[in-house]
Amino acid sequence: MSAEPSAELRLYNSLTRAVEAFRPRVDKKVGLYACGPTVYNHAHIGNFRSFLYGDLLRRVLRHFGFDVTSVMNFTDVDDKTIRGSRAAGESLRIFTDRYIAEFRRDMETLNLLPQDVQPRATDHVPEMIALIGRLVEKGLAYASGDGSVYFRVAALPDYGKLSRLDKEGLKPGARVAQDEYQKETFGDFALWKAWSPDDGDVAWESPWGKGRPGWHIECSAMAMHYLGEELDLHCGGIDLLFPHHENEIAQSEGATGRPFARCWGHSAHLLVDGQKMSKSLGNLFTVRDVEAKGYTGRELRYVLIKAHYRQSLNFTWDELAAARVALSRIDNWIVRWKALPASALTAALPVGAAFLNAFSEALADDLNISGALGHLFDFVHETNRLMDKGEPVPDLPAIWEKVDAVLGLGIRTAEVPPEIAALGAERLAARAAKDWKKSDALRQQLDALGWSVRDSAKGQELVRK
Ligand SMILES: [Zn+2]
Repeated sequence: MSAEPSAELRLYNSLTRAVEAFRPRVDKKVGLYACGPTVYNHAHIGNFRSFLYGDLLRRVLRHFGFDVTSVMNFTDVDDKTIRGSRAAGESLRIFTDRYIAEFRRDMETLNLLPQDVQPRATDHVPEMIALIGRLVEKGLAYASGDGSVYFRVAALPDYGKLSRLDKEGLKPGARVAQDEYQKETFGDFALWKAWSPDDGDVAWESPWGKGRPGWHIECSAMAMHYLGEELDLHCGGIDLLFPHHENEIAQSEGATGRPFARCWGHSAHLLVDGQKMSKSLGNLFTVRDVEAKGYTGRELRYVLIKAHYRQSLNFTWDELAAARVALSRIDNWIVRWKALPASALTAALPVGAAFLNAFSEALADDLNISGALGHLFDFVHETNRLMDKGEPVPDLPAIWEKVDAVLGLGIRTAEVPPEIAALGAERLAARAAKDWKKSDALRQQLDALGWSVRDSAKGQELVRK
């Protein structure tokens, strides 16, 4: 099997609003920044839809031979984290530590690849202050009377290019919210927020006085610190496109004069039972809520990745039940080929290469995951048929390894537990010794444990019932 698919990866770029061939600045090297969680509570499954989109994107990039450096931040200082820590009577660090640990646990449950770097905003305040300083120097930012610093949107002619913003609403004279009266114009946004009593002991010294960074500058500073001033890819949920990503572009490009990210990717919303998730509707679920209903992280992962990332996804409990059925088809297939002797797995069969090709072609088309999964299930069906007939199959372990590097579904639950495998081996030995009585007894024992035994021309198969 060739090392890399021949298809060229094409991705939708929110900046140009077109599907384009994805070409990083340096051949085959990708710097990817994903906006991470604000760590003031448990992330919900809507958040995880977008984090899983970032994970799938990264896995697909690797599938196409790209060497990816992936950075996802923790927003551990903003209004919500400060409010939460004060309500809990804890320091900001201790309070956010807890939710960072919870997030990491959820990442593991859902089998997200660990990030290369997962920086916390509070560990990068000097970089944020330096970036704000560059913007002030260039006349793109100004300090207001109270010690806050704002970005001067009117000074950046192409502000709004990502969201195709109607700039009429941002003109001087437009209504300025009462609590933001220090701004020159409505659209100007805070880079640095002067300390207020509500901030408690959360404050850093800066050239503009005591305060804390604004949310948007956190991402610009961390992204450029770890990935350089020009990124290949920046992704996040669609709700971040405006104002967050628009403002990241303004800050970064304003400071450097260079394009910030070549390609912007955004995942669509997650609905629950056809409705927007909200606390008041009681349909805001966390990973723990899903686990409490008896579903696994693997099943949730499948539900959250199986629809195209740019289509809104409707989450229902029936979808999870359907995921269980779909995954058991894969699991039973894996159990079957795991039990085959190596001689039955013939690497050169064209059906294997044809499938991998179709799978890659689908993914190359802006991560067409439903197409890719469709090819997988066709392939499972086809190779099951070959196994039914006792015919050789392609090198399924090698093929599955490639496929699962993208899907991240694993084979843990599909594995034959050691005690079952031992009984199976004992039965094979009994058969070899023509001890039919013992072999039947072992079959019954396996049956009672929930495993059926199939004997085919290629040997014994153990299948979970
Ligand atoms: Zn961000």
